[in-house]
This record gives sequence, structure tokens and C-alpha cells, in this order.
Amino acid sequence: MAATPSSKKPARTATRTEPLEKKRERALAIVKALRKDFPEARTALTHGSPFQLLVATILSAQCTDERVNMVTPVLFARYDGVAALAGADQAELEEIIRSTGFFRMKAKSIIGCSKGLMERFGGEVPSSIAELITLPGVGRKTANVVLGQAFGIASGVVVDTHVYRLARRMGFSKEKTPERIEQDLMEVFPKRTWIEISNLLILHGRRTCPARKPKCDVCRIREACPKIMS
Ligand code: SF4
Repeated sequence: MAATPSSKKPARTATRTEPLEKKRERALAIVKALRKDFPEARTALTHGSPFQLLVATILSAQCTDERVNMVTPVLFARYDGVAALAGADQAELEEIIRSTGFFRMKAKSIIGCSKGLMERFGGEVPSSIAELITLPGVGRKTANVVLGQAFGIASGVVVDTHVYRLARRMGFSKEKTPERIEQDLMEVFPKRTWIEISNLLILHGRRTCPARKPKCDVCRIREACPKIMS
């Protein structure tokens, strides 16, 4: 366990042997504290339907939400729904989404996903994780975003790069894959907080706890965080 750049004091919480109940207490304290900073925490991806959120989330891989939000109005003006994207020309779609990066793979996923929705789900986005992850380009992270933000269903915890980093720094997981970190977070945070905790940690990671130079001195949750920098 390393000290933070701004605090040389040893961590006061979260040892290797921290009991689960203590972790859960810390987790709840963190949720309550972060709600004060971000009372309206929700996804920054603009969308008008579950399908639009599904597409926006596919586009957000390795891309900022701001960039995705610049692309999706153009995309949905050209393709106005599931059927239109299921029949989209791959090259044309690639040009529209090029600036989001990995555009060939994303175009393939969006077309494949749309075809799957048309062929197996009547053109509707299903509301279960088991069904969602059968669609091309849709993994647990994307499925959790759609279920949580569009349907209000707590199917798991969205683990993006910020949640990955903060879960480890906060001593809630030592794992190195998003899937395993998600399992640890689901054990520590109450189910009723699964949707909001991702949004809270993402916003907190951007504002206060970035990958480099976390601002521990001014961090609202510094007393509940062991500050594990690894
Ligand atoms: S959550 Fe706060 S106290 Fe913990 S490492 Fe990040 S900035 Fe530091």
C-alpha cells in the first residue's frame, strides 16, 4: 500500500484483512458523500431511447462521451431507428462514426447488433442482461449501462476505466479484469446503489481522482479511502 503524493500518512482504512462488513460500511459512506458532490449523477451520453443509448455506449468504447455526443445527432439523423441501422451500408456508417475511433469494429457491431434486434427481438432492446449480451458488440459493461440508465434495472455495476481505477484505490478490489472487479463491487455496494455508484465514481474520477495526481487533500471521501496507488 503506497502513500498518496499529497499525504505521507499511512492509510487508516482497508487493510488486507478488512472484514466485508467494514468494507460495506465504507462503501455506503462513500456513496452518501459523493451524492453531495453529484446529486444528479447519470450517464453523460445523450440519448432519446434505449436503442440510441445502446448505440452511443458501443461508440463510447475508447472515446470520450463528449465526442460521442457530437457524432450521435448526425448518426441518428441519417439512420432513424433499429431497422435503418440494420440495413446500413458499412462504409457509409464508418465515415459518420470515424472520429470516435475503432470505427470499423464499431460499425460492424452496430449493424450486427441492429440486425440481431430485428431478427430476434422484434426491433426492441431487450431488458435482461442475458439477452443483451447475446447481441454482437454488447458485453456486460454496455448491457449494464443500458439496463441501468434506460430501464432503471440494476443488473450489475458498470466498470469503465474510472471505476476500475477507483475500485482498486479504494481497496474494494485487487482484481485486474473489469468482470472480476464488478463482482467485488456488487458484493460491497448495496444493490440499490449499483446504478448510481458507477455514475458517481466516474464523475469523482474525472474531477478529483484522475489516473495521475489524485487530489487527495481536497477529496470529500479521503477519510474513507485507503488510497492504494498500484
Ligand atoms: S478517492 Fe480521494 S482519497 Fe482516494 S485516492 Fe482518490 S482522490 Fe485520493
